[in-house]
Amino acid sequence: MATKLFIDGEWTEASGGAIATVDPATEQVIEEVGTAAAADVDAAVAAARAALGRADWAGLLPVQRAALLFRLADLIDQHADELAALETRDQGQPIGISRMVSVGGAAEHFRYYAGWVTKIQGTVNPVSFPDTLHYTRREPVGVNALITPWNFPLMILAWKLAPALATGNTVVIKPSEVTPLTSIRLVELCREAGIPDGVVNLVTGDGSTGALLAEHMDVDHLSYTGSTAVGKIITRASADSNLKRLTLELGGKAPSIIAADADIDAAVAGNIQGSILNSGQVCAAYTRFYVDKKREAEFVDKLAGGVSGLRLGNGLEEGTDLGPLVSAKHLGHVERLVEVGRQQGAEVVTGGARADRDGFFFTPTVFAGVTDEMTIMHDEIFGPVLSITSYEDTDELDAIIARANDTEYGLAATVWTRDIATSQRLANGIRAGAVFVNMPSIPDMAAPWGGYKASGWGREMGPWAIDAYTETKSVWLHY
Ligand code: NAD
Repeated sequence: MATKLFIDGEWTEASGGAIATVDPATEQVIEEVGTAAAADVDAAVAAARAALGRADWAGLLPVQRAALLFRLADLIDQHADELAALETRDQGQPIGISRMVSVGGAAEHFRYYAGWVTKIQGTVNPVSFPDTLHYTRREPVGVNALITPWNFPLMILAWKLAPALATGNTVVIKPSEVTPLTSIRLVELCREAGIPDGVVNLVTGDGSTGALLAEHMDVDHLSYTGSTAVGKIITRASADSNLKRLTLELGGKAPSIIAADADIDAAVAGNIQGSILNSGQVCAAYTRFYVDKKREAEFVDKLAGGVSGLRLGNGLEEGTDLGPLVSAKHLGHVERLVEVGRQQGAEVVTGGARADRDGFFFTPTVFAGVTDEMTIMHDEIFGPVLSITSYEDTDELDAIIARANDTEYGLAATVWTRDIATSQRLANGIRAGAVFVNMPSIPDMAAPWGGYKASGWGREMGPWAIDAYTETKSVWLHY
């Protein structure tokens, strides 16, 4: 029997059929997951609309709403082992990553935004009218659709759900059809935490279910993480429906610049972590390496040695460094782009092929001799594929910045140097939402997360997410 939808506090049968979710390490079906059709999506949005103004939600004091979020964080901690194992089975990531990044990160996110509930403030403003009090109120934006991808399903849902609830909104969640299971479990925990009926609703299904939300006339804000291509479709759907507000976290093609004075061993370790985590299925993964010619051979050698020593395996086995790619379809995408890299003349230093075992495993791959025009330097591969090119130390920093910026994306970048002036010039010149100096990319609740250019609109995390989930009302009082 297929999993159900969660609408207005009830688990209900989906009316659009079902899609199987598969364990990428074994290629076995884990579960059939219900597909929400238009009537289901309408019911979920209507439930979210009705709950928005109901006393059991809108009437909660900030301390009471905060308590619900703290309780949810505690429940995530109490079910951490179960959630981590479920994430690993459905998504493939090593269990250590599931525990620390996915489950640990989700719990901390709810705790962080629980803290915000009692600290959301308006302002009193010096308007130039006599005898007038002017102040602002932060109000929930309303009904929010939360559409999430398959790379970090639980954690990315927490990035959206925590600030949405902290600010008094209601939501309809639509997880990726490829990895819906931890989202379903989180919704059960929301109920257990005591979040009132209708506040959190869940519709599962593929892109067609997501499209129903994007086109919906009664969704006020849609927060989406996923590919840039779908981000564009959602933007058009918003424009053609009710001009719903959008927060878009889209694709990336992060550059990594390694200067001649860099600590190469630290750069190799940090770049492996920053590029191979979750088998490279990370939007901010470092994928284009610009290395000073003098250190190129050493860097290529050590990087290739490092990645080829990683242990591929089922993520449930302790000691696995690298799990499978998420699906057969995605494996096909990575294989195709690696083949294009070869055909265009890049040299495979290590990897370059599907692993010889069951499951959607791809061997970590390092390409050397890459040139700026090659497809692998532009297209998002979203797999364990690292492409290395070089620069002459006579190149001006401006030329390196221009090469790093030669992409439609602008999510993240990294710079490896011991020279403060070089790091600052590069950090200032690179057009990306986050620049990391001498460290792998890591999201943190307190720092904004989001992209320049085609990597998205808006920012998640910190107070920036509070902005995304609230409207600012201007109140004028003449006395
Ligand atoms: P995807 O675009 O295929 O799917 C993402 C979600 O959108 C899924 O839930 C899917 O069902 C839904 N969807 C598909 N078509 C839709 C439509 N027409 N209307 C509404 N919803 C639709 O993305 P993916 O393959 O799951 O994720 C990988 C992509 O996500 C990569 O490009 C990656 O860079 C990006 N990503 C970005 C960030 C970030 O923070 N910027 C984080 C993680 C992943």
